[in-house]
Amino acid sequence: MNAATEIQTYLNFINGRWIGSATGEVEASRNPANTRDIIGYVQKSSLQDVNDAVASAKQAQKAWRNLAGNVRGDYLRRAADLLEKRLDEVAETMTREMGKTLPEAKGETARGVAILRYYAGEGLRSIGDVIPSTDSEALMFTTRVPLGVVGVITPWNFPVAIPLWKIAPALIYGNTVVIKPALETAVTCAKVIECFAEAGLPAGVLNMVTGSGSVVGQGLTDHPDVNAITFTGSNGVGKQIGRAALERGAKYQLEMGGKNPVIVTKDADLDLAVEATISGGLRSTGQKCTATSRVIIEREVYDAFKEKLLQTVKQITVGDGLKPGVWMGPCASENQLNTVLSYIEKGIAEGATLLCGGKRLTGPEYENGYFVEPTVFEDVSADMTIAREEIFGPVLALMKVDDLQQALDLANDAEFGLSASIFTTNIAHMLSFIHEMDAGLVRINAESAGVELQAPFGGMKQSSSHSREQGRAAIEFFTAVKTVFVKA
Ligand code: NAP
Ligand code: MG
Repeated sequence: MNAATEIQTYLNFINGRWIGSATGEVEASRNPANTRDIIGYVQKSSLQDVNDAVASAKQAQKAWRNLAGNVRGDYLRRAADLLEKRLDEVAETMTREMGKTLPEAKGETARGVAILRYYAGEGLRSIGDVIPSTDSEALMFTTRVPLGVVGVITPWNFPVAIPLWKIAPALIYGNTVVIKPALETAVTCAKVIECFAEAGLPAGVLNMVTGSGSVVGQGLTDHPDVNAITFTGSNGVGKQIGRAALERGAKYQLEMGGKNPVIVTKDADLDLAVEATISGGLRSTGQKCTATSRVIIEREVYDAFKEKLLQTVKQITVGDGLKPGVWMGPCASENQLNTVLSYIEKGIAEGATLLCGGKRLTGPEYENGYFVEPTVFEDVSADMTIAREEIFGPVLALMKVDDLQQALDLANDAEFGLSASIFTTNIAHMLSFIHEMDAGLVRINAESAGVELQAPFGGMKQSSSHSREQGRAAIEFFTAVKTVFVKA
């Protein structure tokens, strides 16, 4: 970055205005591929800012909910058009801010545009049922009403898509929003919010306050005028938010971690299985909640699969995600890098065999970034830490099994249940997997990390609060059902 280039300061967005935090403090958002590159300064906000944002959201809510759904939809459509126009710029900011490669960042931004357009259409779809009453002269029906003010707390790994798959349904169903994005990707989020601002959204309908989770996130969670909290992030933080929301009677939704398995049976197309394991496990440097982490392979094809996998993994180019030809970027932060390296050490200490990778990358191209080698372990047993805890990095654990039943038992031997894949050409195996796999997303002959915006998304077991996001499912969280009985 040229020293002469002025680095922009990004403000909070409260009541339709861009405004500095009451604290007057800012924090630099840095590029994990080159920490000397500062993307911008963002506000380190205080409880005062949270209170101001919640007050403006509360104030704006009545007029917003009273608009016709199609009018609310028009705002989303305009925001979609503006985001589409700025796609290259937003994607480049995302790559600089959290490290995923530019093609992935462009794909995610395009998904954000599609999410906005999908929910814009929701403004005209059915929101209730007519139910026959036992009184033949009465009309009984359900309708759906907004919750009020929704607090949105998001992680850094999908800095455009996750905020949008929460904001868009919240708004279309008549809620107003205060979002606290992850500090690591607050500039990218600010650019998304700019699109809503330019779309002319009424003041107070959407507010953004940046800052730390412990101050701004906690402040939103505890605020008596925040009627619902939707959170995506780690299990520790999610459970804390759930407890606090429950305590004061707020609605909450938590989407958390995964330990996603892929099963490869002896009849699988091995080339396809290898390609999907690498894509699902190592794209975005393994930092997806749906990333493949455990690879469970039938004995008969274990060696062949392993050879093909290692051959391809060794060819992966790691580097700055803005550079053409780079397939895998850095870890998103120093914290994340250290976590990944400590899991690798634990894997070795607990007796797993390191087949490739395992080290931080060094040398001129890497010295100012958080780069780690794509890493593959074998001889991983079910009780090892690397088989149990979410790593959130480019680390695959290979496990050998005798048959499908053993594979399914091992796949289900996890606290998490977000997504799972199987590679097989045997239809009976496919059906067993569909029936027995405890995961919210089960995929056959496709990687674990594929999510479509029009379908429900969420996990079982410890991966979620058992709610679903995206598609039509979002209406369940972002509205309340009202049962109406009318007699003239
Ligand atoms: P995180 O540390 O839990 O943070 C998530 C958000 O919560 C951030 O905005 C964070 O703020 C905020 N936060 C932290 N402490 C808080 C508190 N006490 N009260 C309220 N908010 C608080 O998670 P992350 O490291 O950003 O993201 C990685 C995790 O997200 C992984 O576990 C991954 O599996 C999960 N994830 C799940 C899904 C899914 O849909 N299931 C999707 C993507 C990611 P700051 O960090 O800015 O301080
Ligand atoms: Mg964090």
